[in-house]
Amino acid sequence: MTSTAVAAGLVQQLKTDRLLGIRSVPIPAPQRGVIAMSISTAIGDIEVRQAEPADAARKAEQLRVLDETQVKGCRKCGLCETRTQTVFGQGNPSPRLVFVGEAPGFDEDRQGLAFVGKAGQLLTKMITAMGLSRDEVFICNVLKCRPPNNRDPAAEEILACSPYLRQQLLILQPEVLVTLGAPATKTLLSTAESIGKLRGRFHDYSLSGVSGVGPSIPLMPTYHPAYLLRSPEEKRKAWDDLQLVMAFLGLPIRASQSA
Ligand code: URA
Ligand code: SF4
Repeated sequence: MTSTAVAAGLVQQLKTDRLLGIRSVPIPAPQRGVIAMSISTAIGDIEVRQAEPADAARKAEQLRVLDETQVKGCRKCGLCETRTQTVFGQGNPSPRLVFVGEAPGFDEDRQGLAFVGKAGQLLTKMITAMGLSRDEVFICNVLKCRPPNNRDPAAEEILACSPYLRQQLLILQPEVLVTLGAPATKTLLSTAESIGKLRGRFHDYSLSGVSGVGPSIPLMPTYHPAYLLRSPEEKRKAWDDLQLVMAFLGLPIRASQSA
């Protein structure tokens, strides 16, 4: 479609909106790595954005190289002895939203994919409730190998493995991050504060790794789906957190969703 045709279509849409008494247009938050065009209209300039396929292809290749050349054969901590395989994470290589969990569990270690067990099924429901699909977002963990018997990650394992996560986030550069549970939240925010105190508001994840230095990405901490399976009464709070993320991304929040 030519830019004139896009503009003509938009003007027609705005005229219809005006007839219907609609005076504002929801404009999604700016996306990185996209081609933008600004069109002047009666109600101000409107940005029309088009995703750039080359951007996703370049990021997909960078992710593949990181996985193939560094993560897959990694022996930087003891978990390499007990894993079946590494779990890099998967999804859209140019996502608006990235979810970060803790570590692979039994099913993830078997299949080589993040969040495919019981907790993963709940995460899928949470993503769907946001009006998104798993393919639209990227899903990964702090640790790329399963801790035996799903024990908590040890501090030295997080220290050894988190540079991979940071590299992933540098490549992905989403508009917003959601950390699931305490290990992911504490790792990315470099804090010892509890998840109960941190959730419910946006924090800044610094891409440079040094707080306050260089560009940052808004980060929403929320409860881990495995915790929500054990404490379903907390689901309401997690949903409140996800709705803040939806509002940030300009995703529609239906009345039935907010109950
Ligand atoms: N729990 C996590 O934190 N990550 C997974 O991939 C699965 C369960
Ligand atoms: Fe390497 Fe991370 Fe696996 Fe440890 S958990 S062996 S650091 S990939």
